[in-house]
Amino acid sequence: MNKLHYYLLAQEELSKIKDLLYKPTILLHACCAPCSIFPLLYLHEYFNITIYYNNSNIYPETEYNIRLNELKQFLNEHYPDINIIVPKYDYETYMQDLRPFADQKEGQQRCFLCYTKRMDEAYNYAQEHNFDYFTTVMTISRQKNSLKLNEIGQALSKKYPKVKYFYSDFKKKDGFLIGSKIAKELNMYRQKYCGCEYSLPKEENNLER
Ligand code: SF4
Repeated sequence: MNKLHYYLLAQEELSKIKDLLYKPTILLHACCAPCSIFPLLYLHEYFNITIYYNNSNIYPETEYNIRLNELKQFLNEHYPDINIIVPKYDYETYMQDLRPFADQKEGQQRCFLCYTKRMDEAYNYAQEHNFDYFTTVMTISRQKNSLKLNEIGQALSKKYPKVKYFYSDFKKKDGFLIGSKIAKELNMYRQKYCGCEYSLPKEENNLER
């Protein structure tokens, strides 16, 4: 299935939701504030949203906290009705599965595993807490493979059948550009790298762990 189809699937789902007499709940995995801007604009009218910030891939912990605090501040100011859930940060345990792929470039197997780990944990939380839907903001990113993200979501929907996966390609129809423009206007913190130590710019990759 191509990326446009994922966008169309999202549109179809929203048109069905529009006819409901209630707003369904959705657990939205979010990696940072800038990536959340457009998905929240797009989904807020249709869903009761809860954010799940499980991003133990982010190194170092100070960076993890900067991104988390920026997201909390953005929610406080613009979406005070949205709760954010923050499970424990544990970079070392998280990275054990990823280290065999240390030499890979970004966007390969290590990253697919990284998407899967975070989406799996969040999807599990969604099922345990009776959410109607689950999705991730990560399809907004031009650096992340949205086909892969949606395939992972589809596979996880079989593992967690009580929660519907919301297919997305948030970057479509100028989603990425709209989110970037608002992030600039709000003078929001925008990180220069994806998250783990392997994605750190070379000049910063000499930090002590
Ligand atoms: S580059 Fe990003 S997606 Fe890939 S493994 Fe590192 S943190 Fe995860």
